[in-house]
Amino acid sequence: MSNLTALPSIELLLNTPHILGVIQKYSQAETVAALRELISGLRSQLLAGDAVALPDFLSKDFAETVAQNIEAARMPSLRAVINATGVIIHTNLGRAPLAPLALQAMQDVALTPSNLEFDLETGMRGSRHVHVERLICELTGAQAALVVNNCAAAVLLSLMATSTGRNVIASRGELIEIGGSYRLPDVIAQSGATLREVGTTNKTRLSDYSNAIDDTTAVLLKSHTSNFRIVGFTSAPRRQELVELAAQTGTIVIEDLGSGVLIDLSPYGLDDEPVVADIIRSGVDLVMFSGDKLLGGPQAGIIAGTKVLIEKLKSHPLMRAVRPDKTTLAALDATLRLYKAPFDPIREIPVLAMLAEPFEAVTIRAKQAAEGITKLGFTDIKVQDTTAQVGAGAMPERGLPSVAVSCRIEGISPNELAAKLRQNKIPIIGRIERGRVLLDMRTIKDADLSHIIAAFQSLKVP
Ligand SMILES: *Cc1c(COP(=O)(O)O)cnc(C)c1O
Repeated sequence: MSNLTALPSIELLLNTPHILGVIQKYSQAETVAALRELISGLRSQLLAGDAVALPDFLSKDFAETVAQNIEAARMPSLRAVINATGVIIHTNLGRAPLAPLALQAMQDVALTPSNLEFDLETGMRGSRHVHVERLICELTGAQAALVVNNCAAAVLLSLMATSTGRNVIASRGELIEIGGSYRLPDVIAQSGATLREVGTTNKTRLSDYSNAIDDTTAVLLKSHTSNFRIVGFTSAPRRQELVELAAQTGTIVIEDLGSGVLIDLSPYGLDDEPVVADIIRSGVDLVMFSGDKLLGGPQAGIIAGTKVLIEKLKSHPLMRAVRPDKTTLAALDATLRLYKAPFDPIREIPVLAMLAEPFEAVTIRAKQAAEGITKLGFTDIKVQDTTAQVGAGAMPERGLPSVAVSCRIEGISPNELAAKLRQNKIPIIGRIERGRVLLDMRTIKDADLSHIIAAFQSLKVP
């Protein structure tokens, strides 16, 4: 307790020579805030009865700590990191990175007014939906389309507009949970519809659906079991069969696709991902997918389907609560344009480029990184074949061949090394495998290499 008197007042500290230097370099307000935080931290430790080594408040070192705290406070909480995890669409790291042209489009409408809801021809109020609808229709073959904040909102809106107070039939093999709080049965319940489960976990027949249909049935709901596979003794009716059944019974088919793919990605190993245009062609009434998964755009939920249903969704009271903002629409529009001539989406869309990058090219990057780090004097840095993941639920049981820089540093545990890389000015996020820190080179850009090497350089200074 008595030690508390050893803590100087803020007033006093502000007039010490080194702290005056800090004020000069930063500002009075920031310096006061940093000092308050430091002193109150020390006070709590003393009050808790901890053994505290008090700093020399007059020292240059103490002023340096204050300056560092100010620098840290100036840093935004949400900032860029280097994704060396090998998971291409990493939900915790912000999912799809945008193409530069998509960013440009966001900037163009963010810094100045735009025709978001203004018809330039008539000079009258317009609709924000028109800007991307035609492009989505062109790329998917759908009659109409709508964009909302994310795929979860797309599913909720679609169910509310079609099924509130009625039944939704879904296979027990497709009642999915996708990370966090998205569980399909709960979303159905929130929509005011009643879930009618049919079939079993591994087998659901067309007759299971047809036996369950009655005059309370509104929707046959299909969901992409994106993040798991049921293999072996399994069966499910084909999409086309469900569509025919729906037509015969006056119901509709809705498909929650999750990761929406606009082009065939089977040449790159993704043969299980259905292409949206194929689903629309099979006659599904509404399909919904994310903008920031394999599509490679901004966070958004895209709903494509029949004109009648999309119109119904557009005029639903929930629409206003889930509508996208102008920068999202701009980025989505720009991303979708990259799927059309003169562009090659595989080259222009970062997610697809990472997916399609030849193993040899990844290997070259890994060798460059390992060489750069080894040159600094580290002796146990290797190039190691590994497996990257698509992420966002795609291809959960198979990975993509990849290459990592595998690092071990004398005197630093793998956990410590991983933590130090995370504390880098641009945090570097890797993974630990068998006592080594792995930096996967499929998910980083060439431009990240210099940052990674610089991070190791700074590890050398004690
Ligand atoms: C990811 C996913 C969702 C949720 O999409 P968000 O864009 O994250 O809201 C819904 N359904 C499926 C099948 C998914 O894979």
